[in-house]
Amino acid sequence: MDEIKILLTEKEMPTHWYNIQADMPNPLQPPISPRTGEVMAPEELAVIFPEALLKQEMSRERFVEIPDEVREIYRLWRPSPLFRARRLEKALDTPARIYYKYEGVSPAGSHKLNTAVPQAYYNKKEGIKRLSTETGAGQWGSALAMACSFFGLECTVYMVKVSFQQKPYRRSMMQVFGAEVIPSPSDRTEAGKAILAKDPDSTGSLGIAISEAVEDAATHDDTNYALGSVLNHVVLHQTVIGLEAKKQMEKAGYYPDVVIACSGGGSNFSGLAMPFVHDKIKEGKNTRIMAVEPTACPSLTRGKFTYDYGDTAHLTPKMMMYTLGSEFVPPGIHAGGLRYHGASPIQSQLLHDGLIEAKAYGQLSVFEAAKMFAQNEGIIPAPESSHAIRAAIDEALAAKEAGEARTILFNLSGHGHFDMSAYDAYLSGKLTDSSLPEDTLKELINALP
Ligand SMILES: *Cc1c(COP(=O)(O)O)cnc(C)c1O
Repeated sequence: MDEIKILLTEKEMPTHWYNIQADMPNPLQPPISPRTGEVMAPEELAVIFPEALLKQEMSRERFVEIPDEVREIYRLWRPSPLFRARRLEKALDTPARIYYKYEGVSPAGSHKLNTAVPQAYYNKKEGIKRLSTETGAGQWGSALAMACSFFGLECTVYMVKVSFQQKPYRRSMMQVFGAEVIPSPSDRTEAGKAILAKDPDSTGSLGIAISEAVEDAATHDDTNYALGSVLNHVVLHQTVIGLEAKKQMEKAGYYPDVVIACSGGGSNFSGLAMPFVHDKIKEGKNTRIMAVEPTACPSLTRGKFTYDYGDTAHLTPKMMMYTLGSEFVPPGIHAGGLRYHGASPIQSQLLHDGLIEAKAYGQLSVFEAAKMFAQNEGIIPAPESSHAIRAAIDEALAAKEAGEARTILFNLSGHGHFDMSAYDAYLSGKLTDSSLPEDTLKELINALP
């Protein structure tokens, strides 16, 4: 009988992160300075990031050593378990084998601590006193708040105002870890004041909160900025997920035919997928590797591959990525972590090169999949992660149709214990599907820089 729970010992935890930049067939396009319109000089970014992370951002070194201090903290929840979803397979009556890597076992409840910890570590090492950041639904803010408290750093979190009001428990969680949480837009920054002057009732957006956090860091010497997704160094840190999963799949005795993860900025997707993309490039494997996003925020499936800013006030560099435009404010879908207008440059380049694929689902079918998963596997998944579950279920059904015993691996990026109001809305029939209208999309694309 195949194992249900495939575990690694602490000794088997990876000692290095894997850097896909060493193996990409087409290298990344460089970031462009918002000030000069030229290729960004690293010194410009040094105002808000520590040197070690900037080095990782541009590194082509294949393996980057995980510092001992970081591994020590990772060991609180890593290696994370890999499960065989036996009961779900039975319920679907599929010949497919469904495996999932579970990142919800981390203290913050998601994969985001995998990068929060090294980011806090490198900033502390370079003498920084405080980190500023933004958070939407609150997962990133709570991960960074915990990491900062472990390294004795102060933490300021600009939280999208609508979430600040609707998600009081994520806010309390950050405060327990000692972070200061400010509803964004705020009057702490010029970017925030400008928005409030135009619209005093603005409920905020991720793009606005990023502008505020970046400005805070840029205007204070002892403060740096931390981003929870999108950037190359974040993708690098998250590869600990895929490296572990690859070892666990070896133990299970199967190599995945399909690798699936949900995608907001692309970090949990890249974390699971990159070690398998490596095998595709270097060993000729023909694994399908799929990023799953909401139809309400379809940057990968309907966005344009072009240079765009990462924030609303255009303080960040322009990056080459699939984007819906930095002006895009998605409708209030319940997967708060999947509401970013762009996507990670690494993931975008790989999609452009045909090494990975992307798919979008409406939220009703996503919650339906989440409920089925919970009823069979016992874990109530985060609405974000449930996009991956939807796709995995559809792959298992396609395998049944084809009569093939395919092996499916997906990432369960987090649990949904702080998202019960979203489940309430689903169960009481208040959720609706929304898809970005074609003419709105055209307007957004035409407005790109
Ligand atoms: C933040 C978050 C995401 C989306 O972010 P990515 O960078 O795309 O991974 C997905 N799942 C969970 C549970 C999250 O907290």
